[in-house]
Amino acid sequence: VSPTVDVDAARELAELTRAIEAHVEWLVASGATGVPRAERPSAPVVAAQNPPEMPTNERPAPPAVAGPVVVSSVLPLSTVPPASSAALTVEPAAPAIAKPPALEPAERIRRLELLAESVRSCTRCALHAGRTRTVFARGTGASGLCFVGEGPGADEDAQGFPFVGKAGQLLDRMIEAMGFSRDDVYVCNIVKCRPPDNRKPEPEEMAACMPYLKEQLELIAPEVMVALGATAVQGLFGTSEGITRLRGRWKLYGGRTPVMPTFHPAFLLRNPAAKREVWDDLQAVLRHMGRQAPKR
Ligand code: SF4
Repeated sequence: VSPTVDVDAARELAELTRAIEAHVEWLVASGATGVPRAERPSAPVVAAQNPPEMPTNERPAPPAVAGPVVVSSVLPLSTVPPASSAALTVEPAAPAIAKPPALEPAERIRRLELLAESVRSCTRCALHAGRTRTVFARGTGASGLCFVGEGPGADEDAQGFPFVGKAGQLLDRMIEAMGFSRDDVYVCNIVKCRPPDNRKPEPEEMAACMPYLKEQLELIAPEVMVALGATAVQGLFGTSEGITRLRGRWKLYGGRTPVMPTFHPAFLLRNPAAKREVWDDLQAVLRHMGRQAPKR
Protein backbone atom coordinates (compact mmCIF):
# COMPACT_ATOMS: atom_id res chain seq x y z
CA VAL A 1 0.00 0.00 0.00
CA SER A 2 1.51 3.28 -1.04
CA PRO A 3 1.83 6.15 1.49
CA THR A 4 -0.58 8.19 -0.70
CA VAL A 5 -3.25 5.53 -0.34
CA ASP A 6 -2.66 5.48 3.42
CA VAL A 7 -3.11 9.25 3.65
CA ASP A 8 -6.27 9.13 1.51
CA ALA A 9 -7.68 6.28 3.57
CA ALA A 10 -6.91 8.12 6.82
CA ARG A 11 -8.57 11.29 5.50
CA GLU A 12 -11.62 9.35 4.36
CA LEU A 13 -11.85 7.61 7.74
CA ALA A 14 -11.57 10.97 9.54
CA GLU A 15 -14.36 12.44 7.36
CA LEU A 16 -16.56 9.40 7.92
CA THR A 17 -15.95 9.57 11.67
CA ARG A 18 -16.85 13.26 11.73
CA ALA A 19 -20.02 12.60 9.70
CA ILE A 20 -21.13 9.83 12.09
CA GLU A 21 -20.37 12.01 15.10
CA ALA A 22 -22.33 14.94 13.65
CA HIS A 23 -25.26 12.63 12.87
CA VAL A 24 -25.35 11.25 16.43
CA GLU A 25 -25.16 14.77 17.85
CA TRP A 26 -28.00 15.80 15.59
CA LEU A 27 -30.10 12.82 16.70
CA VAL A 28 -29.54 13.80 20.34
CA ALA A 29 -30.37 17.41 19.51
CA SER A 30 -33.59 16.24 17.88
CA GLY A 31 -34.66 14.45 21.04
CA ALA A 32 -33.92 10.91 19.81
CA THR A 33 -33.10 8.45 22.55
CA GLY A 34 -31.97 5.50 20.48
CA VAL A 35 -31.12 4.11 17.06
CA PRO A 36 -32.30 0.79 15.59
CA ARG A 37 -29.85 -2.07 16.14
CA ALA A 38 -29.50 -3.99 12.85
CA GLU A 39 -28.67 -7.68 12.89
CA ARG A 40 -28.40 -10.34 10.23
CA PRO A 41 -29.48 -13.94 10.68
CA SER A 42 -26.73 -16.52 10.45
CA ALA A 43 -25.51 -17.30 6.96
CA PRO A 44 -26.94 -20.45 5.40
CA VAL A 45 -24.40 -23.26 5.19
CA VAL A 46 -23.60 -22.96 1.50
CA ALA A 47 -20.52 -25.20 1.51
CA ALA A 48 -22.65 -28.29 2.24
CA GLN A 49 -24.50 -27.77 -1.07
CA ASN A 50 -21.33 -28.05 -3.16
CA PRO A 51 -20.63 -31.31 -4.95
CA PRO A 52 -18.48 -33.41 -2.61
CA GLU A 53 -16.00 -34.20 -5.39
CA MET A 54 -15.26 -30.52 -6.12
CA PRO A 55 -11.82 -29.55 -4.74
CA THR A 56 -12.03 -26.95 -1.98
CA ASN A 57 -10.08 -24.34 -3.96
CA GLU A 58 -12.55 -24.55 -6.88
CA ARG A 59 -15.71 -24.17 -4.87
CA PRO A 60 -17.71 -21.01 -5.59
CA ALA A 61 -17.54 -18.35 -2.90
CA PRO A 62 -20.57 -18.23 -0.60
CA PRO A 63 -23.07 -15.46 -1.30
CA ALA A 64 -21.90 -12.09 0.01
CA VAL A 65 -25.29 -11.30 1.53
CA ALA A 66 -26.21 -13.73 4.26
CA GLY A 67 -29.79 -12.61 4.80
CA PRO A 68 -32.09 -9.65 5.27
CA VAL A 69 -31.23 -7.02 7.87
CA VAL A 70 -33.50 -7.34 10.89
CA VAL A 71 -34.09 -4.50 13.34
CA SER A 72 -34.10 -6.44 16.56
CA SER A 73 -33.88 -3.74 19.19
CA VAL A 74 -33.08 -0.11 19.87
CA LEU A 75 -29.58 0.88 20.84
CA PRO A 76 -29.78 3.76 23.35
CA LEU A 77 -27.88 6.82 22.12
CA SER A 78 -26.34 7.11 25.55
CA THR A 79 -24.34 3.97 24.71
CA VAL A 80 -22.98 5.43 21.45
CA PRO A 81 -19.69 7.09 22.37
CA PRO A 82 -18.71 10.28 20.54
CA ALA A 83 -16.11 9.58 17.87
CA SER A 84 -13.73 12.04 19.49
CA SER A 85 -12.86 12.33 23.16
CA ALA A 86 -14.85 15.56 23.63
CA ALA A 87 -18.32 15.19 25.15
CA LEU A 88 -21.52 15.96 23.24
CA THR A 89 -22.53 19.56 23.73
CA VAL A 90 -26.14 19.78 22.71
CA GLU A 91 -28.01 22.47 24.50
CA PRO A 92 -30.64 22.18 25.74
CA ALA A 93 -30.95 18.37 25.62
CA ALA A 94 -34.70 18.51 25.13
CA PRO A 95 -37.05 17.25 22.44
CA ALA A 96 -37.31 19.62 19.49
CA ILE A 97 -40.21 22.08 19.81
CA ALA A 98 -42.57 22.30 16.86
CA LYS A 99 -42.28 25.42 14.72
CA PRO A 100 -45.12 27.93 14.94
CA PRO A 101 -47.16 28.35 11.75
CA ALA A 102 -45.26 30.35 9.12
CA LEU A 103 -46.28 33.97 8.63
CA GLU A 104 -47.40 35.27 5.26
CA PRO A 105 -44.29 36.76 3.58
CA ALA A 106 -45.76 40.27 3.50
CA GLU A 107 -46.57 40.10 7.21
CA ARG A 108 -43.11 38.80 8.04
CA ILE A 109 -41.48 41.64 6.09
CA ARG A 110 -43.75 44.18 7.79
CA ARG A 111 -42.80 42.90 11.26
CA LEU A 112 -39.11 42.81 10.40
CA GLU A 113 -39.28 46.40 9.19
CA LEU A 114 -41.00 47.46 12.41
CA LEU A 115 -38.30 45.68 14.40
CA ALA A 116 -35.50 47.32 12.40
CA GLU A 117 -37.18 50.67 13.04
CA SER A 118 -37.13 50.01 16.81
CA VAL A 119 -33.44 49.09 16.60
CA ARG A 120 -32.64 52.33 14.76
CA SER A 121 -33.78 54.40 17.72
CA CYS A 122 -32.54 52.03 20.45
CA THR A 123 -30.59 53.34 23.43
CA ARG A 124 -30.85 50.24 25.60
CA CYS A 125 -27.09 49.93 26.03
CA ALA A 126 -24.01 52.12 25.93
CA LEU A 127 -23.12 51.06 22.38
CA HIS A 128 -25.70 53.44 20.95
CA ALA A 129 -23.45 56.40 21.80
CA GLY A 130 -20.69 55.43 19.36
CA ARG A 131 -22.64 54.14 16.37
CA THR A 132 -22.95 55.77 12.97
CA ARG A 133 -25.72 53.39 11.88
CA THR A 134 -27.45 50.44 13.46
CA VAL A 135 -26.79 47.17 11.62
CA PHE A 136 -29.88 45.00 11.52
CA ALA A 137 -29.48 42.25 8.89
CA ARG A 138 -29.01 41.43 5.25
CA GLY A 139 -30.60 38.78 3.00
CA THR A 140 -34.06 37.28 2.84
CA GLY A 141 -33.39 33.94 4.52
CA ALA A 142 -35.34 32.20 1.73
CA SER A 143 -32.69 29.45 1.65
CA GLY A 144 -33.47 28.45 5.24
CA LEU A 145 -29.89 29.24 6.23
CA CYS A 146 -28.93 31.97 8.70
CA PHE A 147 -25.48 33.12 9.84
CA VAL A 148 -25.13 34.90 13.19
CA GLY A 149 -22.00 36.92 13.89
CA GLU A 150 -20.73 39.05 16.75
CA GLY A 151 -21.37 42.70 15.93
CA PRO A 152 -20.66 45.43 13.38
CA GLY A 153 -17.13 46.61 12.57
CA ALA A 154 -16.11 49.89 10.97
CA ASP A 155 -17.35 49.03 7.43
CA GLU A 156 -20.66 47.72 8.72
CA ASP A 157 -21.14 50.75 10.97
CA ALA A 158 -20.54 53.03 7.98
CA GLN A 159 -22.83 51.16 5.57
CA GLY A 160 -25.53 49.84 7.93
CA PHE A 161 -25.27 46.21 6.77
CA PRO A 162 -23.57 43.21 8.41
CA PHE A 163 -20.53 41.47 6.94
CA VAL A 164 -19.66 43.95 4.20
CA GLY A 165 -15.91 44.31 4.98
CA LYS A 166 -13.12 41.85 4.18
CA ALA A 167 -14.52 39.23 6.57
CA GLY A 168 -17.90 39.70 4.90
CA GLN A 169 -16.40 39.13 1.46
CA LEU A 170 -14.92 35.88 2.72
CA LEU A 171 -18.31 34.91 4.16
CA ASP A 172 -19.87 35.61 0.75
CA ARG A 173 -17.37 33.24 -0.89
CA MET A 174 -18.23 30.59 1.69
CA ILE A 175 -21.96 31.05 1.02
CA GLU A 176 -21.34 30.78 -2.73
CA ALA A 177 -19.19 27.65 -2.27
CA MET A 178 -22.12 26.10 -0.41
CA GLY A 179 -24.30 26.70 -3.47
CA PHE A 180 -26.44 29.52 -2.08
CA SER A 181 -27.01 32.98 -3.41
CA ARG A 182 -25.80 35.76 -1.10
CA ASP A 183 -29.23 37.36 -0.95
CA ASP A 184 -31.08 34.17 0.01
CA VAL A 185 -29.07 33.69 3.21
CA TYR A 186 -30.02 35.71 6.30
CA VAL A 187 -27.04 37.32 8.04
CA CYS A 188 -27.23 39.16 11.36
CA ASN A 189 -25.28 39.79 14.56
CA ILE A 190 -25.64 39.45 18.31
CA VAL A 191 -25.37 43.25 18.81
CA LYS A 192 -26.65 45.83 16.33
CA CYS A 193 -24.27 48.69 17.18
CA ARG A 194 -20.51 48.78 16.73
CA PRO A 195 -18.47 48.28 19.92
CA PRO A 196 -15.69 50.90 20.17
CA ASP A 197 -12.29 49.84 18.75
CA ASN A 198 -13.94 46.64 17.50
CA ARG A 199 -13.80 45.18 20.99
CA LYS A 200 -15.96 42.22 21.94
CA PRO A 201 -19.42 43.28 23.20
CA GLU A 202 -19.81 43.13 26.97
CA PRO A 203 -22.22 40.55 28.43
CA GLU A 204 -24.70 43.29 29.46
CA GLU A 205 -24.61 44.75 25.93
CA MET A 206 -25.34 41.34 24.45
CA ALA A 207 -28.13 40.78 26.97
CA ALA A 208 -29.68 44.16 26.13
CA CYS A 209 -29.63 43.42 22.40
CA MET A 210 -30.67 39.75 22.45
CA PRO A 211 -34.44 40.39 22.44
CA TYR A 212 -34.02 41.94 18.98
CA LEU A 213 -32.14 38.90 17.68
CA LYS A 214 -34.63 36.56 19.32
CA GLU A 215 -37.52 38.26 17.54
CA GLN A 216 -35.61 38.36 14.24
CA LEU A 217 -34.99 34.62 14.43
CA GLU A 218 -38.62 33.93 15.29
CA LEU A 219 -39.74 35.88 12.24
CA ILE A 220 -37.15 34.41 9.86
CA ALA A 221 -37.56 30.89 11.32
CA PRO A 222 -34.38 29.51 9.73
CA GLU A 223 -34.02 25.80 9.12
CA VAL A 224 -30.39 25.86 10.25
CA MET A 225 -28.10 28.50 11.75
CA VAL A 226 -24.34 28.89 11.73
CA ALA A 227 -22.84 30.74 14.72
CA LEU A 228 -19.69 32.57 13.61
CA GLY A 229 -17.17 32.74 16.44
CA ALA A 230 -17.24 32.34 20.20
CA THR A 231 -19.19 35.55 20.88
CA ALA A 232 -22.05 34.45 18.63
CA VAL A 233 -22.25 31.11 20.47
CA GLN A 234 -22.02 32.91 23.80
CA GLY A 235 -24.85 35.28 22.86
CA LEU A 236 -27.10 32.45 21.66
CA PHE A 237 -26.37 29.91 24.40
CA GLY A 238 -24.68 31.74 27.28
CA THR A 239 -21.70 29.41 27.16
CA SER A 240 -18.19 30.68 27.83
CA GLU A 241 -16.41 27.79 26.12
CA GLY A 242 -13.83 28.55 23.45
CA ILE A 243 -14.78 28.23 19.79
CA THR A 244 -12.01 25.69 19.17
CA ARG A 245 -13.84 23.30 21.46
CA LEU A 246 -17.33 24.30 20.34
CA ARG A 247 -16.92 24.26 16.57
CA GLY A 248 -18.24 21.38 14.56
CA ARG A 249 -20.69 20.28 17.28
CA TRP A 250 -24.42 20.81 16.80
CA LYS A 251 -26.32 22.83 19.36
CA LEU A 252 -30.04 23.50 19.54
CA TYR A 253 -31.38 27.05 19.72
CA GLY A 254 -34.80 27.69 21.23
CA GLY A 255 -35.48 23.99 21.47
CA ARG A 256 -35.92 23.59 17.71
CA THR A 257 -33.28 25.20 15.50
CA PRO A 258 -29.97 23.37 14.97
CA VAL A 259 -26.92 25.60 15.17
CA MET A 260 -23.45 24.77 13.89
CA PRO A 261 -20.74 26.79 15.64
CA THR A 262 -17.65 27.54 13.56
CA PHE A 263 -14.81 30.03 13.31
CA HIS A 264 -15.54 33.67 12.46
CA PRO A 265 -14.40 34.73 8.95
CA ALA A 266 -12.21 37.44 10.56
CA PHE A 267 -10.32 34.64 12.33
CA LEU A 268 -9.90 32.87 8.98
CA LEU A 269 -8.34 35.98 7.48
CA ARG A 270 -5.64 35.74 10.17
CA ASN A 271 -5.49 31.93 10.15
CA PRO A 272 -6.22 30.66 6.63
CA ALA A 273 -5.28 27.10 7.63
CA ALA A 274 -8.51 26.93 9.68
CA LYS A 275 -10.60 27.20 6.48
CA ARG A 276 -10.48 23.40 6.22
CA GLU A 277 -12.30 23.00 9.55
CA VAL A 278 -14.87 25.65 8.63
CA TRP A 279 -15.53 23.90 5.34
CA ASP A 280 -16.06 20.63 7.24
CA ASP A 281 -18.63 22.44 9.44
CA LEU A 282 -20.41 23.98 6.46
CA GLN A 283 -20.57 20.62 4.74
CA ALA A 284 -22.22 19.19 7.87
CA VAL A 285 -24.78 22.00 7.54
CA LEU A 286 -25.36 21.10 3.89
CA ARG A 287 -25.79 17.43 4.77
CA HIS A 288 -28.36 18.39 7.38
CA MET A 289 -30.22 20.41 4.74
CA GLY A 290 -30.08 17.46 2.35
CA ARG A 291 -27.80 19.34 -0.03
CA GLN A 292 -24.33 19.01 -1.48
CA ALA A 293 -21.82 21.69 -2.30
CA PRO A 294 -21.65 22.26 -6.06
CA LYS A 295 -18.55 20.87 -7.77
CA ARG A 296 -15.86 23.49 -8.32
S1 SF4 B 1 -26.38 47.35 20.65
FE1 SF4 B 1 -28.51 46.69 20.63
S2 SF4 B 1 -29.26 47.14 22.69
FE2 SF4 B 1 -27.36 48.29 22.42
S3 SF4 B 1 -28.06 50.29 21.68
FE3 SF4 B 1 -27.59 49.06 19.88
S4 SF4 B 1 -29.54 48.15 19.29
FE4 SF4 B 1 -29.77 48.89 21.38
